[in-house]
Amino acid sequence: MRPGKETLINIPDMNQNVGALLNNMQDHENGEALLRATLDLVPDLIVLKDGAGRWLFANRLVLETHSLTEEQCLKRTDLELILIRPELQEIFEKNVEADEKAWAAGSPLLNEKILTGSNGKLTYWEVVKTPIFDAEGERKCLIVVSRNITERKENEKALKAQELQYRLIANHMTDIVSMMKPNGEIIYVSPSLKRVLGHSPDSLEGSQQLKLVHPEDTDKLTVLIRETASKIQNAGREDIRLLHRCGLYIWFEIAVSLVQQNEREEDFLLVTARDISIKKDYELQLQSMAFRDSLTGIANRRHLMTRLEEELGLTDNTPSPLAILYLDVDKFKKINDTLGHAVGDELLQQIAQRIGDNLREGDLVARIGGDEFVVLLPNTDCAEQIEGIAKRLCAALSRPWQIGGHEFSSTSSLGIALSPQHGQTPAELLHCADRALYAAKREGRACTRFYQEADEPGDSDVLI
Ligand code: GH3
Ligand code: MG
Repeated sequence: MRPGKETLINIPDMNQNVGALLNNMQDHENGEALLRATLDLVPDLIVLKDGAGRWLFANRLVLETHSLTEEQCLKRTDLELILIRPELQEIFEKNVEADEKAWAAGSPLLNEKILTGSNGKLTYWEVVKTPIFDAEGERKCLIVVSRNITERKENEKALKAQELQYRLIANHMTDIVSMMKPNGEIIYVSPSLKRVLGHSPDSLEGSQQLKLVHPEDTDKLTVLIRETASKIQNAGREDIRLLHRCGLYIWFEIAVSLVQQNEREEDFLLVTARDISIKKDYELQLQSMAFRDSLTGIANRRHLMTRLEEELGLTDNTPSPLAILYLDVDKFKKINDTLGHAVGDELLQQIAQRIGDNLREGDLVARIGGDEFVVLLPNTDCAEQIEGIAKRLCAALSRPWQIGGHEFSSTSSLGIALSPQHGQTPAELLHCADRALYAAKREGRACTRFYQEADEPGDSDVLI
């Protein structure tokens, strides 16, 4: 037996009640037999001792539990019982100790004890010892009632173990888990919120779910929650941004599902949030790679074509006049051959930069091939203005370059095509600008040239 915690309990009428019972037992012979039969049916261990600790009564469960007969235990103290059941010495000694505490307390004393059964299994007991005093205040008897609480204890232990498991999971997971009422009010947020987003769960509980959501993402989350709560869909996912305590928004995949309860309990929404910022960064990177030239960082051919389609009104049928300048570096192969490919690369990067520096906001420059660039001038139909921009670019690109310890000059040629005059699709326009560029090369390079019908290839069209 191990001593458990002791508690004084308040049973004000207990002394009188038990006193009345004892009197009844003395008054009526039949009463005693009846009481004994009743107490034998009780599933608790019941022992009655006199003021000197001698056993006056033990119900059947006590006798069975300790393998004692009535003759063996009645009129004996616990210490005397040790001689009969030496293997229970520890239990009897502890009984004496606990009895003295109850006498000293003078009122019912509750404690817990653990017994090891003959099969080695532990059983848990809740013991109430009630001391009864006579009119002179002398010890009269002690009533000891022990209730088997093993099942309750085991349930408590199992529950605690389960709680510990959940707490461990909740504390260590990197996802955020929350529970929400169908109206969006947050009931619970896992402690991982602190680690992942820097906010304490308390700051969110009781509030609406949208507090941390990026303003551009609130609509889609609201719809997802509303549709899940109203069973339009059982569960759903959305990528949204949540605010970190440091002020940064981080991408999360939010999964919402409805947990349906019985009629007595309200349904709730289970919401999990998983950090997908790495995946999002990667997606954005891939997206930008798909539309950017890797050497110069400016737009690539695909980006140019998409933008041209938009500007030409092919996507929404609202075309606007525009110009494209098709630009090719003169004798670029020679630069590669004489100064090296790395210098050639750097030159392409600096050309992209210089073109960009000479454009207006809304213009676009793309690298569409080795040393070929295309400039898109949207919403432009003034030929002089376009020519001015083309000549300015031509002049800018003919200024000397300083690359890799070399200072050198190069030039570029430009072909210009206009929409709607020369074409109304990207392919038509690029074709015309390319033909004009070809003509500019043929006419001596380092110059600009508007497209003319005569630029279409003829039999003698050979570029030297
Ligand atoms: P032209 O005046 O007729 O344009 O003569 P060109 O030597 O410039 O001839 P062309 O435009 O046909 O040659 C472009 C060269 O650009 C061919 C190729 O070796 C080179 N090139 C293509 N891509 C790259 C690149 O990414 N880096 C470097 N350094 N060179 C490239
Ligand atoms: Mg070239």
